[in-house]
Amino acid sequence: MWSIDTIFREVVSQNYIETSSMANKIKCIQIQKPGNTRYQHEKCYAKGTGNCSTKISGEHVISHVILRSLEKNGKVKIIGLPWQKKGHFGLLPTNTLKSNILCSTHNSILSEFDSEMGRFFKTLIDNDQNLISAKPESNIAHFCGYDLERWMLKVLCGFIASNQIANFSGTVKDLYVDILFNNMPFPHNWGLYISPLPLTQIDHSFGFMPLMENGDVLGVEFLLNNVRFYLLLGTPGGPSFGMYHPAGIESANNGFKRRIEIYWPNDSQENLQGIYLHSTGKTSKGPPREWPDEWKQ
Ligand SMILES: [Zn+2]
Repeated sequence: MWSIDTIFREVVSQNYIETSSMANKIKCIQIQKPGNTRYQHEKCYAKGTGNCSTKISGEHVISHVILRSLEKNGKVKIIGLPWQKKGHFGLLPTNTLKSNILCSTHNSILSEFDSEMGRFFKTLIDNDQNLISAKPESNIAHFCGYDLERWMLKVLCGFIASNQIANFSGTVKDLYVDILFNNMPFPHNWGLYISPLPLTQIDHSFGFMPLMENGDVLGVEFLLNNVRFYLLLGTPGGPSFGMYHPAGIESANNGFKRRIEIYWPNDSQENLQGIYLHSTGKTSKGPPREWPDEWKQ
């Protein structure tokens, strides 16, 4: 048996976040075309864009930088992978999560998303840890939302290309390759959503759960340290997916505030809604109280 470290927090509100003046200074990632060759590596899912390297990369399907920040003793807590028992967190060795899905040129083009997401993930972990530490400090961190949602699409493409989505045998769509490699925007209302649930932080955990409908993947639920994000690629049915293109996540405890501001400079409407969380300062080794029973085993 392994234990889960839980830091308790509560959602205070979904409300307007007045973002700071950093908005204009955030630079979103712009992908540069790597060259002009027609070579297509047979195993690279971006081969349609040409410019492949002759070398395949041995890419981590979940970015290595994320795995490293999640890892404890060479293992990570993960839920949702197709070979895992449904609804169960498991401990997986970091080095089992590699696949040959991108040539080294196309892999290195996307590495900027990995570093940005690594910074985002570290901020999520640090914010919760800092607020319950002996020396809490207020802080604001800034991110480009388009970078975060494109990283999520990159992870999904990795799972699709390596045939690791249960009951799905499709291939990576040309549209996804265009969004990732040709700076194409997501279609209207596709992309990142954040749900105000659930309530607690599971220390160093990652969840990846595809939303399947009529044999297609219409989205993915990502749990990043148990904050629930959705990447939507269509309009799946079911309950609300929360806030579209959220402006931020603010965590607070005892008057200290740690805020993540997320910018969407090309959106026609200003999205100023964000999520406010309250850390209660308690920690425990057991499973979170709001989890369904099947997750607790
Ligand atoms: Zn390639």
